[in-house]
Amino acid sequence: MPAQSYAPADAEVQANLYSEMDYMATLFPRAYEIHQSSGEITAGELRKMQGELLSGQLANARDLVPFYRESLAAYRSGTDAFSALSRLPLLDKATVRSSMIDLCSDDLDPATCRSARTSGTSGIPLRILHDESHLIRLHAARLRYNNERGLRTHYKMLMPFQNWFHGWIECTDASIGLARVAHFGTPGLDADRVAELVAKATAFDPDMIFGHPSQCVQLARALQTSSSTRMNPKVVVTFGERLLPAARALMADVFQARVADTYGMREFGTIAAECVEEQYHITGERLWVEVVDEDGSLLDDGQAGELVVTNLTNQAMPLLRYRTGDIGALATEPCPCGSPHKTLKLLEGRDLPAIELANGRSVAIGVLTRTVREHPVERFQVVQYAPDRVEIRLANTGEPVDLRAIAEAVARVTGPSVAVSARLVTTDGFVGSRLRKHVDAIRVSEDTPTPSGPVIHV
Ligand SMILES: [Zn+2]
Repeated sequence: MPAQSYAPADAEVQANLYSEMDYMATLFPRAYEIHQSSGEITAGELRKMQGELLSGQLANARDLVPFYRESLAAYRSGTDAFSALSRLPLLDKATVRSSMIDLCSDDLDPATCRSARTSGTSGIPLRILHDESHLIRLHAARLRYNNERGLRTHYKMLMPFQNWFHGWIECTDASIGLARVAHFGTPGLDADRVAELVAKATAFDPDMIFGHPSQCVQLARALQTSSSTRMNPKVVVTFGERLLPAARALMADVFQARVADTYGMREFGTIAAECVEEQYHITGERLWVEVVDEDGSLLDDGQAGELVVTNLTNQAMPLLRYRTGDIGALATEPCPCGSPHKTLKLLEGRDLPAIELANGRSVAIGVLTRTVREHPVERFQVVQYAPDRVEIRLANTGEPVDLRAIAEAVARVTGPSVAVSARLVTTDGFVGSRLRKHVDAIRVSEDTPTPSGPVIHV
């Protein structure tokens, strides 16, 4: 076998990544300065800083963002920014989608903005613009998190089993502390090529492994079966999917390292990250998190409701009181780790990451999501009645939607043992859970009646 016969990453993929890293490097001095100057702060100092950032954000939105011109017209700088914020209506994804232009600042400089496409698990992706102030604060926060994980600068980070390319790419990412970052992807590669990439990843000797829980688990399993190789990372950081206890235990065992999960969304970047006590601390230096009930009323700390996030620094496209669709509660007590950043408990919302089929196989909801999202669907839900019966419910965008094509595409994923139906429904045709109305996937009892609406069974 030749030494390096895995397919090299596509030249264009690599060129795009390098160019993005070049740009991010220009932001590093400012992120580093913020990081260096912030040092240890108290909860009171943090709250004061949040108030100042919010006050600036509200004034910016009032003066420059058409969407907020009216609702913030009465806002006066120097008055209580938090109470002004709490009077704003909640912002949902559908509104961001329909009012994207109005949500952008009249003053934005496209040359210095970056566009993030969300990969939400339901509906059409959104496009969010982030300005330099957002990016710099985001990077500074990552430097803080990494410090806490025992990593300073010039560490090595591995992103295993990427699904957007195959091969190996290395670059230096200044934004996260001049880190040497290696990504490898295996779509379409045979077992030998995959084994070579895993061996290369082991030789790379990463200090940090960074990926979705499923990607890190795949790496752990690959290492388990390849007898002689071992990695010695200091930490495994996961994001993007719910980290289940079994996955955490497997990673801790195989990597012999701390596993730190994070909670985030493309709209904001990391919203909260686990500390050594495994508590999710909010990135309080750039985000403000509220918890609301089903009517949108603010809940007290300790009470569970929908998490609503405000970006304190992104002035190009301010998202104020943005509904995450995730359920959680703010902690009532400070964390024993001593961090001044509030912790939140994530409760639901990322439940049912996979559906279990009759043959013992499980299918990740994300896989079904990608399949359905190729169609013009406003919202959809995977309803599982039994291990061998699944219904995809959807609301269309106004454009005709091919129910048969969706049902067949899902059936190709779930396999022949599962009866799949696709049904067009109105809003009340979606199943809500006890805590919230919007769930992407839900299990119901077998005799639950189906709603009305055109349906195709395959
Ligand atoms: Zn803590």
